[in-house]
Amino acid sequence: MAVDLSIVIPIYNEQDNLNTLFQRLEIALEPLALTYELVCVNDGSKDQSLAGLVAHHERNPIIKVVNLSRNFGKEIALSAGIDYATGAAVIPIDADLQDPPELIGMLVEKWREGYDVVYATRRSRQGETWLKKFTANAFYQTIDSMSPVYIPPNTGDFRLLDRRVVEALKQMPERNRFMKGMFAWVGYRQIAIPFDRDPRLMGQTTWNYWKLWNFALDGITSFSTLPLKVWTYLGLFISVLALIYAGFLILRTLIFGVDLAGYASLMVTTLFFGGIQLITLGVIGEYLGRVYEEVKARPLYFVRDAYGFESKP
Ligand code: UDP
Ligand code: MG
Repeated sequence: MAVDLSIVIPIYNEQDNLNTLFQRLEIALEPLALTYELVCVNDGSKDQSLAGLVAHHERNPIIKVVNLSRNFGKEIALSAGIDYATGAAVIPIDADLQDPPELIGMLVEKWREGYDVVYATRRSRQGETWLKKFTANAFYQTIDSMSPVYIPPNTGDFRLLDRRVVEALKQMPERNRFMKGMFAWVGYRQIAIPFDRDPRLMGQTTWNYWKLWNFALDGITSFSTLPLKVWTYLGLFISVLALIYAGFLILRTLIFGVDLAGYASLMVTTLFFGGIQLITLGVIGEYLGRVYEEVKARPLYFVRDAYGFESKP
């Protein structure tokens, strides 16, 4: 039976957050007068999260559990949850209560006004270092200047998606799932709601700077081919310079004769071009590796057990 609202929760080692999470969700959702389900995706947790989820499912069957065969990463866990969700609207939310469930009421209100995507944009980043804020800013600026679609800054995956948008997302088969980009790419009527993001309740974030850097690369490469194109123009520019310099050398040799000095300039140009060529190859490699991932066309995820669903998606 389809419900009005599906809350999708990716879960990786969140055993200490589950009780508070469900409590706050239930309090926030009860007054909305909607039928709803909580689709929890256990993303290969190494702690007791799965046991906790199953216990909650037995207590309250609207808490449904998809247990993935291993850890696939948040983006894929979310996709799995979205596939299993039956709601007329779907809201992905983090299990660590960084996205306040109390905001769901406001998201639903805007949805009832006719918007297809209602996204929550953070006004502040509490409990985050200046370095994290700085790198996050730099990332959003870079991707904004490169991507053909507008990707709202400071916006996570916490948003309401109408069924139309969910069906659109399901048609995007890519393995490299940069969700904030995909949510923006599909279009439809979108609106922002500002909110203050809280610090994580319990446990630790799994994101470090290396992971964030790779996440940023995933985002940029899946939404822009600019890094590939820039070398054409840089190459052209350097070729023109080289041509001018060659002309100058020929003239000088004709006028002043051959001289063998020039070891330094030779080294510098060789090293310079070596560097440029390696960078170019690296950029091509970034894309090529991703093309390889896509053409293998493996399934996005495997589900070991599912609790509380009437049918497979
Ligand atoms: N998560 C997941 N799989 C992972 C890592 C994280 O499903 O491999 C979930 C995690 O349980 C949480 C959400 O994704 O519900 C956000 O994770 P986290 O709080 O670590 O990220 P941050 O808030 O620091 O971006
Ligand atoms: Mg978090």
